[in-house]
Amino acid sequence: MEGILWDGRAVEVCGTEFRELTDLPQSSSLRRIAPGLTDIQVNGFGGADFNDPELTFSGYIQALRALREHRVTCALPTLITNAPEVILDQLIRLETFREEAEKTVDADTIARAPFYHLEGPFISPEDGYRGAHPLAHVMATDDPNAEKWISRWQEAAHGRIRLMTFSPHGKNAAEFTAMLRKHGILPAIGHTHAGSAQIREAVQAGTVLATHLGNACAQLLPRHANPIWAILAEDELAVSMIPDGFHLPPEMLKTFYRVKGREKTFLISDATQYAGKKPGAYHTHIGGDVILTPERKLHIADSPNVLAGAAKSVWEGWMHMVSLGFATPEECWHAGSGAPLKFLIGREFDPELTPMVFVDPEEP
Ligand SMILES: [Zn+2]
Repeated sequence: MEGILWDGRAVEVCGTEFRELTDLPQSSSLRRIAPGLTDIQVNGFGGADFNDPELTFSGYIQALRALREHRVTCALPTLITNAPEVILDQLIRLETFREEAEKTVDADTIARAPFYHLEGPFISPEDGYRGAHPLAHVMATDDPNAEKWISRWQEAAHGRIRLMTFSPHGKNAAEFTAMLRKHGILPAIGHTHAGSAQIREAVQAGTVLATHLGNACAQLLPRHANPIWAILAEDELAVSMIPDGFHLPPEMLKTFYRVKGREKTFLISDATQYAGKKPGAYHTHIGGDVILTPERKLHIADSPNVLAGAAKSVWEGWMHMVSLGFATPEECWHAGSGAPLKFLIGREFDPELTPMVFVDPEEP
């Protein structure tokens, strides 16, 4: 693969080797290349729902291939609040798919889903903050069985649960954070109505991320005491945000980026199975009737103002963020690639997890 890096160097990439190209003809039209994107929150893609107990091996593999076409070379399949047994079964299912894939030509494809993100079930039970997570399965952080389940899930996932989004509104925010870290899980705040003191307690105990800041909130918030200010004010806390053009207005994307900066702002898709699909009207057993518009807004069929989830990849979100003009294309790319990868594994480039991809929207 040959291309131009963000710093302007023309290179040939062979596996992990980079060779600088010199004496290029003036007319050379090499394309922009960059390390692949890392999406730490993907619920589904290309028609496959990672939470669906009927998810098939081929559906899962197809989804990871479709993500690759969208330049996402490292993805965290994300499971949301459900009955603990159901979460356990789904982790077992995904790990069975992994073992199956590792024996075949799909080994490279499954390697693009190295970790999982559990979003819930230890989140706020309050309407608005809870979002679309089912109330019946929300668990409290001080539930006597909390650690038992976390350890069973992590065992089923062979230690691959790397991230968990929880709400620190309970009395044991610090203990719960420490317990997650003990199990090898990066703690993230989200779907929360916690106060600033509880958020601070969680951060001081080792919580490192705020999930999809500005979403999963009540429609109306107290102007001073609300979790968005508290999260922005915690310097140690990174934030993830959905730059699809529908979940957050431009001024929030810009403000979050300005406050958190280059290393602590991550772009996520939070994609549903409709990402990567053609616009149109869809019906699902659980989700009901939804419309995916040509602009990739996913809404409830009879309520155009009610979003039914996200349907853009991080790559499509990157294009939207670039179009807003407050950060350079390279800065926006870093927020979808180097920054989240460093958060996960401690380095911002990995030739296996984030091989070089073409940045522009021509054919991959
Ligand atoms: Zn969420």
